[in-house]
Amino acid sequence: MAVRTLRSRKGITIVTQISDAEAARLLLEAAPRLADKSAKFARELSAKFRSYGGFTPEQAVWAHKMVRDAGLMPAGEAPPPQTQAPQEEDRPEPVQLPGALRLYSMFRAAKAAGAELPRVVFSTPAGRPLAVSMATGKSKYPGHLNVTDNGTWHKSVWYGRIGLDGKFFPSGDCDGEVFDMLVALAEKPLEVSNGHTARTGMCGLCQCKLEKPENGVDAACRKAWGL
Ligand SMILES: [Zn+2]
Repeated sequence: MAVRTLRSRKGITIVTQISDAEAARLLLEAAPRLADKSAKFARELSAKFRSYGGFTPEQAVWAHKMVRDAGLMPAGEAPPPQTQAPQEEDRPEPVQLPGALRLYSMFRAAKAAGAELPRVVFSTPAGRPLAVSMATGKSKYPGHLNVTDNGTWHKSVWYGRIGLDGKFFPSGDCDGEVFDMLVALAEKPLEVSNGHTARTGMCGLCQCKLEKPENGVDAACRKAWGL
């Protein structure tokens, strides 16, 4: 494995020679050597690697850093002081999402129209896929809206969560383009859906295939989502 330099958004830098899979394995050995809070975080990270098949860039920094801090990094670098699990200030701040309550009213309309797990699939004008879906009753935040890259289960990138009060809690993977597109969806849902339909031929509201995508989503889709 070549030497890699990993950087977090907050500027934490770690030089590593081991693969992410190796880091995930070593995290379990590292956990008992770390402070309680960090040990729990180490085990969670390792479990995430196994269930998602990889780390996000931000997770990778923490994984390799904790392995190093536990003195388990090969190549013999002296372990620096113990790492704490990331504190609140290391995570992006929640921000009010303009138009969020309108998004919630769309989802309520879709549920009332019979959609069990309503999901809006949309995309940036450049074609970057995005999806907003309502969290199920079994999730940590039932009824909240999750924003992802519309990837398949356990392989998707999670960009954040929109709370019931319209606050958006971005993940470390969220960037300005995702946020701007989310604002556009909340403020001009029909325009955004029609753009996605024209680009892909698929209705982003109910994922139906449309005969004339250039005309945008059809009346039935609009009605189901209260648009
Ligand atoms: Zn449709």
